Amino acid sequence: MTDRTEAVVIVGGVTGVGVARDLAMRGVDTTLLERGSGLNAGTSGRSHGVLHSGARYAEADPEGAADCLRENGIIREIAAGCVADSGGLFLRLAGDDPEYFERKLDACRDLGMEPELLATDEVRERVPEVSDRLEAGFAIPDGVVYPSRLVAATAASAREHGATIYTDAGVTDIEVAAGRITIHTDGAEIVADTVVNAAGPWAGEVASLAGARLGMRPTRGVMVAVERSGIGPVLNRCREPADGDIVVPHGEQAVLGTTSVAVDDPDDFEREDWEVERTLAECAEMVPSLADATVQRTYWGLRPLYEPDEVGREGRGISRDFAVVAHDTAPGLVSVVGGKLTTHRRMAEAVADRVCEDLGVDEPCRTAVEPLPGAGGPERLDELAREFGAVGPADSDVVGE
Ligand SMILES: Cc1cc2nc3c(=O)[nH]c(=O)nc-3n(C[C@H](O)[C@H](O)[C@H](O)COP(=O)(O)OP(=O)(O)OC[C@H]3O[C@@H](n4cnc5c(N)ncnc54)[C@H](O)[C@@H]3O)c2cc1C
Repeated sequence: MTDRTEAVVIVGGVTGVGVARDLAMRGVDTTLLERGSGLNAGTSGRSHGVLHSGARYAEADPEGAADCLRENGIIREIAAGCVADSGGLFLRLAGDDPEYFERKLDACRDLGMEPELLATDEVRERVPEVSDRLEAGFAIPDGVVYPSRLVAATAASAREHGATIYTDAGVTDIEVAAGRITIHTDGAEIVADTVVNAAGPWAGEVASLAGARLGMRPTRGVMVAVERSGIGPVLNRCREPADGDIVVPHGEQAVLGTTSVAVDDPDDFEREDWEVERTLAECAEMVPSLADATVQRTYWGLRPLYEPDEVGREGRGISRDFAVVAHDTAPGLVSVVGGKLTTHRRMAEAVADRVCEDLGVDEPCRTAVEPLPGAGGPERLDELAREFGAVGPADSDVVGE
């Protein structure tokens, strides 16, 4: 069977469904292909689920941080039922560099974020179990976003606007010839004018199916969900990025993260006990009672870090901002890589602008202003998450299996 469509979006993580929604809203005939039996099968379902304010990146990557701050506000508007307004804190403990704290605070102010400097007893009022080693803290507008709901609601919106969504549709080959692209999956082929590769950590593999090169350098990170209610805000350790520096509240649980280890094969990588142990131990420096908390589940995600040839292999130093790459060797194939769950809508807008220009479509992006289906109603969102098979380990405690 051969189908014909204008645009194929390869994969159903948050970026892919965001691209499919954007293109469909602009009237582009769009088909999304995901190899998993449900959506949200990759990194999107395996993150901390922090709706970043940008504070984590403020001094190192002000542009990416500004994207986070803006998108944080947009997601709260269009997808209220996907977000818990927890707020967030940056905490400096004894031994952490006071200059780094000041730099971070200034960088947040430069973004227009209005961080709230708190006395230690004010922090303690918000987080009663915080460590006695606390020396300083400030509040920022982080939140918690439930990826299963966000991915499902975005997919539902794409479908409402006419997109076709296939799961169990792993792409096995991409042929580029004479101004059209043929995408092969097991048992079917689709001919398209343009193809968006939004395969996150697998984007290098997908590009190579079309004979194109895309330098990806995924790194893995563990998350440890423990029994612990009442954490309150997202807790960020205020120091240079390091293992075990974030605690995310989830109702009766807290999700602790993370590590950063380079991975060669996104389908086959080690998951090591030291990552769990170190994450628990480091997070317990902020909240000592976490050291004895019962572990409910551990899961690993892969950061879709883009490593163009000129960038060195420096782990956390690689930018987490995103890139849109048009491949000269495979005309019609456009990749969108990097970014964060928080900035997926902005990434989708950037690649959809590019695709619409190529297709001669002159419609503006409306994804920032039109609410997602089910926004404001967690029950309906959870139904959508189950319908799309989108429940991932990041929020299975909240959304339900
Ligand atoms: C440890 C960790 C913690 C994070 N925490 C946060 C956070 O708190 N907040 C935040 O904003 N961001 C966070 N991120 C970043 C964020 O999760 C990712 O940037 C985002 O989810 C990437 O989404 P994606 O759609 O690009 O990729 P993915 O979600 O990985 O989607 C890729 C999809 O491609 C599919 N696929 C692969 N190959 C094929 C093929 N051949 N055919 C069809 N389908 C295929 C996979 O099944 C998968 O569903 C975190 C990342 C990590 C690793």
